[in-house]
Amino acid sequence: MRGVVFLGNREAEIRDFPDPQAGPGEAVVKIRASGLCGTDLHSYRSGQAASTISGHEPCGVIEELGAGAPDSLKVGDRVICHHYAGCGTCEVCAMGYEQLCPHGHVTYGGGTAHGANADYILVPTRTLVSLPDELSFEAGAAISCGTGTAWNGLNKMHVSGKDTVAVFGQGPVGLSGTLSAKAMGAQVIGIDVVPERLALAKELGADHVINPTETDAVQAILELTSGMGASAALETSGNPTARQQALESMRPFGRACYVGAGAATEIDFNKNVIFKVATILGSWTFSKAELMEIARFMVDTKAPLEQLITHRYDLDQAIEAFQTFDGATTGKCVFVMN
Ligand SMILES: [Zn+2]
Ligand SMILES: [Zn+2]
Repeated sequence: MRGVVFLGNREAEIRDFPDPQAGPGEAVVKIRASGLCGTDLHSYRSGQAASTISGHEPCGVIEELGAGAPDSLKVGDRVICHHYAGCGTCEVCAMGYEQLCPHGHVTYGGGTAHGANADYILVPTRTLVSLPDELSFEAGAAISCGTGTAWNGLNKMHVSGKDTVAVFGQGPVGLSGTLSAKAMGAQVIGIDVVPERLALAKELGADHVINPTETDAVQAILELTSGMGASAALETSGNPTARQQALESMRPFGRACYVGAGAATEIDFNKNVIFKVATILGSWTFSKAELMEIARFMVDTKAPLEQLITHRYDLDQAIEAFQTFDGATTGKCVFVMN
């Protein structure tokens, strides 16, 4: 089968790998869609060559089940993969948060186990979540990391129609935050330095967009909220300045959730946390149960996931796909396999 491997320094190649076979407790999934995620760019841009297949947003159809598979899974089922495996038995794994397993974990497509930028992926059957018929494979790939990450950050802040949410960064995760916050009923302010992404944010429902290269983002958010500030902030960019602005532009009793990995920054705890009576949260993707909840939410609210996906590629176009995604002007990019 084909598999895309990062060679370091913005190079990738499509290599031949043996087709995987399912052992006890394992499943082989035929990949129908595999999303490109911002996290991929950290390894794509690094100086280090990877030895495993990239792609941690797997979505497809069960091709083979190893011994001991539960009766609820059948060959041919449409599935999303919760792309981590911890020890599988500790209390954190039992919560469905295998990425936080204190005994260590592998991330499928994250450098520690083969991922989904391939014709097939081999994973433990316990990682598989049913893909609702109403969602496309591409939508399933999106929610399996980037879109689900944004949704869960908002979910942790209990965002509702009472909120004005400032979403910092309008890459694929931030755009997912914009469309999810709208689907939760909130007013949304999208912030990004890339005009193409701000235009997409408007299409996906942002009520206002701000370009910090043209105007002071904090001041603009205060003006849009009668001087009060946003009631919730979702920080997806990882940019040190944005990390501060998320707190600076927050109203008293506001909440901020950080989901974008990036550089360290300083926080004025007196001004922006204690005397604002603020709630600051961190979130790293979601549990397996939350992945099921996200899929159901997207079906129920008919959130515009298909509009989020701006670029679709065949796996043979992997080099071009990563070059385009690296340019940081796109919405969601997805490999689609038939
Ligand atoms: Zn564990
Ligand atoms: Zn990701």
